[in-house]
Amino acid sequence: MTDTNAALRDRDLQVFWHPCTQMKDHESLPLIPIRQARGVWLEDYDGKRYLDAISSWWVNLFGHGHPHIDGRIREQLGRLAHVITAGFTHEPAVTLAERLVQRAPPGLTRVFYAENGSSAVEIALKMSFHAWRNQGCTRKQQFVSLTNAYHGETLGALAVGGVALYRETYGPLLMPCLQAPTPDCYLRPEGVDWETHSRELLAPMAALLAARSDEICAVIVEPLIQCAAGMRMYHPIYLRGLRDLCDRHGVHLIADEIAVGFGRTGTFFACEQAGITPDFLCVGKGLTGGYLPLAAVLTREAIYQGFYDEYATLKAFLHSHSYTGNALGCAAALATLDLFDASPVLASNGRLAEHLAQALAPLRDHPHVGEVRQTGLVAAVEMTPNGDRHSAYPWQERRGLRVYRHALERGVLLRPLGNVVYFMPPYVITTDEIDLIVAVAREGIDRATAD
Ligand SMILES: *Cc1c(COP(=O)(O)O)cnc(C)c1O
Repeated sequence: MTDTNAALRDRDLQVFWHPCTQMKDHESLPLIPIRQARGVWLEDYDGKRYLDAISSWWVNLFGHGHPHIDGRIREQLGRLAHVITAGFTHEPAVTLAERLVQRAPPGLTRVFYAENGSSAVEIALKMSFHAWRNQGCTRKQQFVSLTNAYHGETLGALAVGGVALYRETYGPLLMPCLQAPTPDCYLRPEGVDWETHSRELLAPMAALLAARSDEICAVIVEPLIQCAAGMRMYHPIYLRGLRDLCDRHGVHLIADEIAVGFGRTGTFFACEQAGITPDFLCVGKGLTGGYLPLAAVLTREAIYQGFYDEYATLKAFLHSHSYTGNALGCAAALATLDLFDASPVLASNGRLAEHLAQALAPLRDHPHVGEVRQTGLVAAVEMTPNGDRHSAYPWQERRGLRVYRHALERGVLLRPLGNVVYFMPPYVITTDEIDLIVAVAREGIDRATAD
């Protein structure tokens, strides 16, 4: 018997080692086996429903079980699930590359596929290094990232990460990297606005690039929101200034839009808000609408041409993953882009974002909330002792976990990052459902900060 929560949980705990989890927690925190999902709702084996307010780890865009995406995958399945893409090709991969190029900031004309976001980051790092090498710049061997950055869990991606929780244990294994301070506006001094704060943080980046650009391949950033750091946000002026600095000092700019791409921040890509084109754009997560593992790196024509030569020059990018350009993944991504074409998604997201902002406004006066912030359809509430932005509850108290537990009881999936309760809902959420997730979050925050 596996058709009850209890039965599946027991079997699970015998074999399944879960991601980002201290498995011992499950002695007291029950796993939730999901039998099916529709729209924003997940349903377990006992028929209890949970509103997926975090898009199943930031991947889902148009809800679970969307008829159009389901249909396109089924259709593709009838023809071709997968084929090697070295020496061979297929229509969904070609069409998807064409459509991504159309959607991307101008100047990005070439698409390299990966299977997940971390691999896309690895590809961008390797391509940047190799592109310089192909031009004879062999001294360029370093990458610059921001403090509190998150770019994935593989060793290269972790090396350019700045979240200590994920990184520190593996420190001895990681390639040395350069760091510049984040423009995160939560850290702004009292009385300073977002724009001013973000602009001022260009100065240390400028100093670093001025001093060491001959050693630096690229700067990698998460445009507008450092998601894993706790949905920490900054002003687009930083991206504008960073683009200028990279141009001036001859350094690539890698935009990791794996979490923020595909409309989360209010524009299709976050970079659009700064009017910039990065040299490498990493996409993943929402690319397939949250259905299948697929990611991609887009880059400029000049970079592609730098690899294009006789085989014996060894300039080729000899990187691959077994499932590069998987046909089912590409079909899911094409269906996702169809949905953006079929209706004014960004405009309706704007109305939902407005509703979310209004629903969250009263939390600004909560005695233990230090900040409520929002960019597009991503919002975050920072729990702090006495609402003081300059102090934090010790991580050992796991107050976010209390909010998580409370929300589950009430049928909402929230998954706070430390002391940050955030919302990143699928775009098919209704205004009533937004009211529900905010009400439940408020109760959770009340309880988690009561002592
Ligand atoms: C999730 C994430 C990644 C890693 O993607 P995976 O598919 O989990 O490997 C990289 N960068 C950012 C900004 C992310 O949010």
